Amino acid sequence: MKIQNYINGEFVNPIQNHWIENYNPATGAVYGQIPNSTKEDVDKAYEAAARAFPKWSNTSLDERSKILSKIADLIIEKLNFLAAAESKDNGKPISLATQIDIPRAASNFQFFANAITQFSSEAHESVGLNAVNFTLRQPIGVVGCISPWNLPLYLFTWKIAPAIAAGNCVVAKPSEITPMTAFLLGEICTEAGLPNGVLNIVHGLGASTGQAIVAHPNIKAISFTGGTTTGAYIARVAAPMFKKLSLELGGKNPNIIFADCDYEKMLATTVRSSFANQGQICLCGSRILIEEKIYEKFKKDFIKKVSELKVGHPSEATTNIGALVSKEHLEKVKSYIDIAAQEGGKVLFGGERVTVKNFENGYYLQPTIIEVSDNKCRLNQEEIFGPVVTIMSFKNDKEALHLANDVQYGLSSTLWTNNLNRTMQFSKQLQTGIVWVNTWMLRDLRTPFGGQKDSGVGREGGFEALRFFTEAKNICIQYESPF
Ligand code: NDP
Repeated sequence: MKIQNYINGEFVNPIQNHWIENYNPATGAVYGQIPNSTKEDVDKAYEAAARAFPKWSNTSLDERSKILSKIADLIIEKLNFLAAAESKDNGKPISLATQIDIPRAASNFQFFANAITQFSSEAHESVGLNAVNFTLRQPIGVVGCISPWNLPLYLFTWKIAPAIAAGNCVVAKPSEITPMTAFLLGEICTEAGLPNGVLNIVHGLGASTGQAIVAHPNIKAISFTGGTTTGAYIARVAAPMFKKLSLELGGKNPNIIFADCDYEKMLATTVRSSFANQGQICLCGSRILIEEKIYEKFKKDFIKKVSELKVGHPSEATTNIGALVSKEHLEKVKSYIDIAAQEGGKVLFGGERVTVKNFENGYYLQPTIIEVSDNKCRLNQEEIFGPVVTIMSFKNDKEALHLANDVQYGLSSTLWTNNLNRTMQFSKQLQTGIVWVNTWMLRDLRTPFGGQKDSGVGREGGFEALRFFTEAKNICIQYESPF
């Protein structure tokens, strides 16, 4: 199957007719081709977006909102079809794609369909100066959206929906590793009546297609989710052109467990926060820190629960852990298990590849628990982004807080306790963009989302996203007093 670029409402081949192979992670086999787009394709997408902008930015909020709602409805209508496509392309269990990825993609459109009708700006009366100021929040123009492979349609739409709701036109690139649902979204947008050119999807490699979007002189804002190294590179390219940047980057999130927590809820949630989506979620709690007095009990119970997880073909309803996204990524994750051995980490469970019957070439790995004693080890400092977690104990609140903050990243943290004073102290002092207390991955789309430190710059979500995708302009009017 050949995936094509979606430019000006049409599906087109890349201008140079170069293609990249697309793999099914569950089988290791090639199952399609995607465009290896060049700068010329990005230029063509930009031209289409720029042509569509004057009309789209003047389309009433009511009309924009209706089209976004329609896209959301169509995503739900095609839920099973899209979930199957996502699962095949990414290797994630079909159950996860059906329950989380695709419904969330629909929610992204529905949420911003509503949010844009409630978005308002400020007015300031300059008392005593006979002047009034008001702020116009105008769409930027053509913006770029670049997303990763772990939650393909979920994160792709998390950017596109607010961008177009705010009146911008978009040139977007999904990860080259998971292009399928982005391709299918094009058809849905056309069916929903999104005018040609408002959304343009260009497929290809990050280093060429992605780079061409970031370096395009007239694409004035870039919303990027991906790795920290890529984010730093994008910032260097975009900064001299004074582009607006939103960077949602990597994480190495602490999961801090105190003895006074609701133990059963914590245990079940910790299994999820460790291994959901094969541990390939930027918000996974990959460093589990446990209060010393329950450490041995937790260790025993956690190993038991994790040993019950079924690694299997993503299309099977009973599979808990599917395939990792690519061979290269599997090798990277495996290499950290080798590093553990060199660093004195002890593998308590897992660590090996899994051979799934009839799918022997798929990229399967056991969920892996490694016991470490030094937070400075590479396993606790570097993002592995796979089904590998570390566990270590702490003695008291002070040590727990120190360990939690002692990394370059600052995306999210999870705290398990029933002590209100501790909750407040940790909430204030944890250096992360999100703190979950006695829960994980509970998302309210109105809230600001993003990371501190090397986990990113800027916030998306709710009105923060609409602020990012608009330019604030102050209008100051002075009037004469008739009296
Ligand atoms: P990458 O940084 O490799 O890629 C992300 C996207 O950027 C892909 O579409 C990629 O294309 C593209 N890209 C790569 N190089 C460039 C470039 N020079 N210019 C422009 N675009 C480029 O990340 P991954 O896809 O490997 O995703 C995993 C990472 O994403 C993890 O670090 C994870 O923590 C992070 N992430 C962060 C989230 C957050 O909200 N903070 C949420 C989810 C993931 P291609 O794939 O074709 O190379």
